[in-house]
Amino acid sequence: MTTITVERIRANLAEVRARIAAAAASAGRSTEEVRLVAVTKYVDAATTRLVVEAACADLGESRPQQLWDKAATLADCEIRWHMIGHLQRNKIRRTIPLVHLLHAGDSLRLLEELNGERAATADTAPLSILLEVNVSGDAAKHGFAPQEVPGLLDALSKLPRLEIRGLMAMAGLEDDLATARRRFAEVRELRDSLRTAWVGRFQLDELSMGMSGDYEAAIAEGATLVRIGSALFEGADGA
Ligand SMILES: *Cc1c(COP(=O)(O)O)cnc(C)c1O
Repeated sequence: MTTITVERIRANLAEVRARIAAAAASAGRSTEEVRLVAVTKYVDAATTRLVVEAACADLGESRPQQLWDKAATLADCEIRWHMIGHLQRNKIRRTIPLVHLLHAGDSLRLLEELNGERAATADTAPLSILLEVNVSGDAAKHGFAPQEVPGLLDALSKLPRLEIRGLMAMAGLEDDLATARRRFAEVRELRDSLRTAWVGRFQLDELSMGMSGDYEAAIAEGATLVRIGSALFEGADGA
């Protein structure tokens, strides 16, 4: 069990935000283009509440069960939940009413089931989702191969209850920072070419890439959503 104070979280958040601003500035981008998603998967609901109190409303979880539990415990907070991990099909129904953005659209089968579930509910808004691209080729990672994505348009056009907002990716486990940055550039280039090819269908404004170890490189390459966990909880006892 880790303990951390709200002051510590606030200081960590301020530091991360300053680094985001600096990375955006050196890329000639505006800070407002980059949204921080605080990944709270390492901490309990009480600590997650401190993150919200420290003025961060975009929270990410990678396991559906944890997201459900925290969404229930923190129902009094204004939170935009981001589901950032693989979503098993039997967890779809309980998860999607809670989420603001689903980052890990990682297979056509999942997308089809999500579309079907959304169509079966009274929720008229399409579900916002990102396509996860396995840009490092790691066998253990989920997601579409980069070369597979352009061919998805026909299949996606049959899923009217999904709004594809962009792409999500992770650097490889073994990547150094220079390699990570090249991966992020590859994802941005893929997004840019899709934006042209899919014009009038999907906006593809979002690029979810960058974690505690590589978010500045991701921002340099166009990230609009950075998913940051461990950097926010530094200085916790037992962390
Ligand atoms: C855990 C996790 C993160 C956050 O990682 P940190 O290195 O702790 O910042 C980001 N994205 C995904 C998909 C994760 O599972």
